[in-house]
Amino acid sequence: MTDPPPAAADQTAEPTTPTPERTPEMAITIGAMTAEIRANNIAKGWRSAEGGPGGNTLGDYIALLETEVSEALEAYRDWKLEDATKPICGKAAATGRPCPEHGPSKPEGVGSELADVLIRLLDTGDVFGFEIFGRDFELGDVADLFPARSDVDLPELVSFGDHMAWLTRRIDFIWTSPTNAPMALRALVTVARRYGIDLEFEYTRKMEYNRARPYRHGGRALVETGA
Ligand SMILES: [Zn+2]
Repeated sequence: MTDPPPAAADQTAEPTTPTPERTPEMAITIGAMTAEIRANNIAKGWRSAEGGPGGNTLGDYIALLETEVSEALEAYRDWKLEDATKPICGKAAATGRPCPEHGPSKPEGVGSELADVLIRLLDTGDVFGFEIFGRDFELGDVADLFPARSDVDLPELVSFGDHMAWLTRRIDFIWTSPTNAPMALRALVTVARRYGIDLEFEYTRKMEYNRARPYRHGGRALVETGA
């Protein structure tokens, strides 16, 4: 039922794409996610192998995280909570899996955008050397954050946009102090649960897609994560 392992890569070629050391049935720890993201970002040329933020500031990373949250809101405006992923070909449509010939379909929708928030959030902590959450925890271990208790100055969150604004605020607090990072992850997990999004599934699918993307030769300024 799983695809055969890919053929050994040509060592003279561009950096090889790391593959996950787990089956889709296994829950993944936050530490393992962070390591996967780092390996792929380096392999794709989206991040310097030397580590550190290079010429980018924490504010750059925060702004890009907030962009991802905005993309989740845009996805909601376009598709509500529908999975808007279009299968790359008939085979991908039939199996729901990446096609051996054409690769993975591009994930689209709120779930995919929230996965981008997760990926960039873990990458931000890794690049700047602070912990987003305990490495041995899985997403299922992350407790909900109740906005009525954590953000008593806000009105009750009602709409999807309210929740995205709250998530943005929780992410923004990381800029003031990285000790706010676990609360930001909890807010992300809370929003995903609230809207019935399986964040681990979305993470896995998005990373599968990101691994299949080509190596970047130059390109956009600011930090890439494939988002
Ligand atoms: Zn195909």
